[in-house]
Amino acid sequence: DELINQIKAGEVVERPYNVIKELVENSIDAGSKHISIELLDGGKQMIRIADDGYGMSAKNLSLALERHATSKISQFKDLDTLLSFGFRGEALPSIASVSHFSIKSRPHDQDLGREITLNCGKRISEKDVSTSVGTTVQVKDLFSGVPVRLKFLKSTATEFAHIHDFLTAVSLAFYNITFRLSHNGREVFNYKAKNSSADRFTEIFNFNAKDFTEINYTRGSFKLTGFIGLPHTAKTTPSHFITFVNGRYVKDKIVRTGVIQAYQGLLLKGLVAPAIIFVEVDPSWVDVNAHPSKVEVRFYDNAVIQDLIYIGIQNTLKEAIH
Ligand code: ADP
Ligand code: MG
Repeated sequence: DELINQIKAGEVVERPYNVIKELVENSIDAGSKHISIELLDGGKQMIRIADDGYGMSAKNLSLALERHATSKISQFKDLDTLLSFGFRGEALPSIASVSHFSIKSRPHDQDLGREITLNCGKRISEKDVSTSVGTTVQVKDLFSGVPVRLKFLKSTATEFAHIHDFLTAVSLAFYNITFRLSHNGREVFNYKAKNSSADRFTEIFNFNAKDFTEINYTRGSFKLTGFIGLPHTAKTTPSHFITFVNGRYVKDKIVRTGVIQAYQGLLLKGLVAPAIIFVEVDPSWVDVNAHPSKVEVRFYDNAVIQDLIYIGIQNTLKEAIH
C-alpha cells in the first residue's frame, strides 16, 4: 500500500509547487479566511501551511490520510474552474508517503486538536494537541526517501519562483482571503483580504490606478481576461507574469511571446509588464492530456494562439493609453 502511495505521489507531486498547490486548495476548500505558508529552501526542506478553516475531527483527520478519502463532491464550482483538481482524495496520502509529514487539525466544536505524524507514509505518532481551530500541515524533507525524485528538484530560486507565482495567482483569484508567505524566515508577502481582484493586483505590484488596466477581450470561443501593467511599468526582466489556460496555472512561452509582441508595437523589444492573464480557448485547441501536475500546456496551433494574444493585449493597451 505504501508503494502504491509512493507511485501515486509521483503523479501528484513532482516538486514543492505541487505540494503547495494541493494543500492551499484544501485550505481554500475548508473555507479559510487566513492561509499562512512558510517555506525553507524553496520548499525542499520544509513546507508549512496553516489555515483557519473548518478543520477535521480526529476521526476525519485519520481518514483523510487514507487514499480516496475525499469528502468533496464538487461543491466549489469557482475553484473547480480556476484550479485543476486532478486527484480527488489522493493528495494527502501521496504527499505523506514521500516526506516527513505531520498534520494537526481542530474543528470548532472541539477543545483539543489532533496531530498525526508520518514518516514516509508510516504513522509514527498520533496525539491530542492544543491548537486553534483549523488545520496545519507540515512537509519536511520532500523526496528524502525517493532519490530518483530528489535528483530532479531544481535550485531553491527556481522552486521558490514556481511557488511564488502560483500563490500570487491564487491570491488574486481569492482576494477575500488573507495570504501570508514567508521564505527562510523572511516575510515575502502578507496580503490582507480585499474587496476585488483589482484591489489585490494593485497591492501586489504596488500599483495605483494609472499603472494598469483590466483585460477583457473576446473573439469567438477565445477569451482573454485579467490585468496588465501599462507600458511605463514594463521591464526587461519581469518578475511577475502569471498565466492560466482554461483554469489551469501554466508557464507558457506562446502566451508570453504574444504579450511581448504586443508591447513591441508600443515599446522596446523584450519588455513586458506585470500581468495576470486568464486565457480561455475551445478545449479542442489545447492538449487536455497534459499532465495535471505539470505547469506546461500544449496548443495545437501555436501561431493562432500567439496571434490572438498579441491582438487582444495590444487592443487592451491601446484602449487604455488613448
Ligand atoms: P481532496 O481534496 O481531493 O478531497 P485530499 O487528499 O487533498 O483530497 O484531502 C482529503 C480530505 O481531507 C479532504 O476531502 C478534506 O475533507 C480533508 N482536508 C484536507 N485538508 C484539509 C484542510 N486544510 N481543512 C479541512 N479539511 C481538510
Ligand atoms: Mg485536496
